[in-house]
Amino acid sequence: MVLELKKFLATELKGYKGRPFLISGPCSAETEEQVMATATALARIPEVSVFRAGIWKPRTRPDSFEGVGVEGLKWLRNVKHETGLMVGTEVANEKHVYEALKYGVDLLWIGARTSVNPFTVQEISDALQGVDVMVLVKNPINPDLELWIGAIERIARAGITRIGAIHRGFSSYEKTIYRNQPNWQLPIELRRRFPDLPIICDPSHISGTRELLYELSQKAMDLNFDGLMLESHIDPDQALSDASQQITPDELHELLSRLILRNPVASDPKLLDILGELRQQIDVFDDALLDILEKRMKVAQTIGQYKKDNNITILQPTRWDEIIRKVVINGQVKGLSREVIDTIFKAIHQESINHQMRIMNDGIEIPAAKS
Ligand code: PEP
Ligand code: MN
Repeated sequence: MVLELKKFLATELKGYKGRPFLISGPCSAETEEQVMATATALARIPEVSVFRAGIWKPRTRPDSFEGVGVEGLKWLRNVKHETGLMVGTEVANEKHVYEALKYGVDLLWIGARTSVNPFTVQEISDALQGVDVMVLVKNPINPDLELWIGAIERIARAGITRIGAIHRGFSSYEKTIYRNQPNWQLPIELRRRFPDLPIICDPSHISGTRELLYELSQKAMDLNFDGLMLESHIDPDQALSDASQQITPDELHELLSRLILRNPVASDPKLLDILGELRQQIDVFDDALLDILEKRMKVAQTIGQYKKDNNITILQPTRWDEIIRKVVINGQVKGLSREVIDTIFKAIHQESINHQMRIMNDGIEIPAAKS
């Protein structure tokens, strides 16, 4: 089945005056006072469409605050009545879905620790059969695009049409400045495969810290995301979960006022001409890159033939180390970052290995490459 998705942004997800669709609120609902104070302050920010608060919290270790449970749903219902904001919460099983729907929650999201598990996503999907509610599927904690798409497909098959994705970054063993690695290429590929699927960025869980929220939000806007989910709390330092990444409603307001929103498409004919000309140049370079790669692979195949004839291994670590060091240095002189050079050359090297493996194992004889 081809996943049929219609962007529902035009109606429901239309942010305030064409601005991004905005979901904000605390990581967790903690007390009725905290929820109401945060929501009342957020309701004064015109861009905020949905008030979020976690009621059931998936925590890494036991004995952390695991959420207030059903009691918090009453507070969300009050927020809805008193502020007019839509309300949203995370659901991780069938029971959560029933409870949240009973209390009139407008938006359900599936958390990163849930979207990794097709059994649980299916259970949630079954509970959603015939229900009209907005559902957003966070990426799984591991960078697996197919798993993310699979979770979206399961929810779509329940008949949910107001469906979208949330990019919240991916766990990694390596320590970096991010709590979760953005791996922007995954949401970009998701957008390419499903142009009508709304994608919301969650800079709070990507960054893990307040300091990076603005630059991540701006980046998401420049990559044409449809909206943002940003955690906010009336007193962030006292938050019972994710304290260091939450900001006050006032800080959120200030962050939003600094966001630069650019046009997703160019319409000025002069500009279109200039872009068209430059894109032709890019196409020429892309063709040249492919030609060079083809030539490089032919040389690699010839080397593979010699290795086979002389019974030596394909991987020659010293030579590979020499190449990667050299290209990183040369690339930096040309203004190319170490990470990009590393990624490109590792992929090229892997492709050379694949070509040589075929020579070694399939017994294909190839003519020597022309010099
Ligand atoms: C959350 O939104 O508070 C949450 C737990 O998110 P994630 O599933 O992205 O970790
Ligand atoms: Mn959180």
